Amino acid sequence: MHYRFLHQPSCYFPFARLRVYSASHLLCGAGLSKYPGDMSRVIAIANQKGGVGKTTTAINLGASLAVAEQRTLIVDTDPQANASSGLGIRPGEDLRTVYDVIVEGYSAAETILREVQFPCLDLIPSTRDLVGAEIEIVEAHEREHILRRALEPIRDHYDFILVDCPPSLGLLTLNTLVAADSVLIPIQCEFYALEGLSRLLNTVRVVQKGLNPTLEIEGVLLTMYDRRLNLSRQVADEAREYFGGKVYGSTIPRNVALAEAPSFGQPIIQYDVLSTGARGYLALAQEVMAQGPGSPAVAGGLP
Ligand code: ATP
Ligand code: MG
Repeated sequence: MHYRFLHQPSCYFPFARLRVYSASHLLCGAGLSKYPGDMSRVIAIANQKGGVGKTTTAINLGASLAVAEQRTLIVDTDPQANASSGLGIRPGEDLRTVYDVIVEGYSAAETILREVQFPCLDLIPSTRDLVGAEIEIVEAHEREHILRRALEPIRDHYDFILVDCPPSLGLLTLNTLVAADSVLIPIQCEFYALEGLSRLLNTVRVVQKGLNPTLEIEGVLLTMYDRRLNLSRQVADEAREYFGGKVYGSTIPRNVALAEAPSFGQPIIQYDVLSTGARGYLALAQEVMAQGPGSPAVAGGLP
């Protein structure tokens, strides 16, 4: 009970601000600027396998970029709306959502929630209504390009746009891959971690061949990594064998604070900036900011 009380946002807030400042200081103090070229970058966070850490990455990479004063937008395209709730948006709140953009034709600008938790962090939330969207847009003109067209007018307002994908390769994920400059693939360090990845990579190839020829692999992120376990090391070795230098040097450890933070509607750097999970995502943000645009190469021979 005492533990829960400590983490109520209202009680925790002043302390959180101090901690967030130190996170910001950590990144900005490193003198990092984003990748050369100074353009906005739209990154789809995708893996059709469920529970691998896509949403946790969208929220916490987004927050870590925002405290480094990178103007960041998170777009929640998953009907589960976990990225929205993890950032403190309650289901049922009367808000415009990505459903209104994709199905109803609202502009992205009309749906953006500004300054969510941090001054540099914006969000286009999701809603359960999105479940029906794939069927509702089946007949739409250039149905794979809807999200791309919607993000085009606002992308220059941001340094990074992170799109949290649902665990499927349906029309919503296809829309994000067409809208994106690159795809970040989280891989959970568990048995069969790479199984099924060839389907995602095939989809990426198909998109590269027609719908979005400039789509790149941004990076591969090892999540729920435990360096004491042989299994984690094996998954890391296999991932490096297939993806080479595309695998981020930063890994995200299995960390209970990362699993707890969403129930308080807070990114990890607000909930517990000293946790190993927070350090993992802050380090990842540094890597993402420092690295240039990815290469279009996609490895073959996966299961
Ligand atoms: P889905 O495919 O359902 O959208 P996902 O790929 O978005 O899932 P998450 O929701 O980010 O995955 O994570 C799945 C579960 O694992 C969540 O309960 C999350 O809190 C927890 N989790 C994610 N990353 C970690 C971690 N590094 N350590 C501990 N728990 C984690
Ligand atoms: Mg998710």
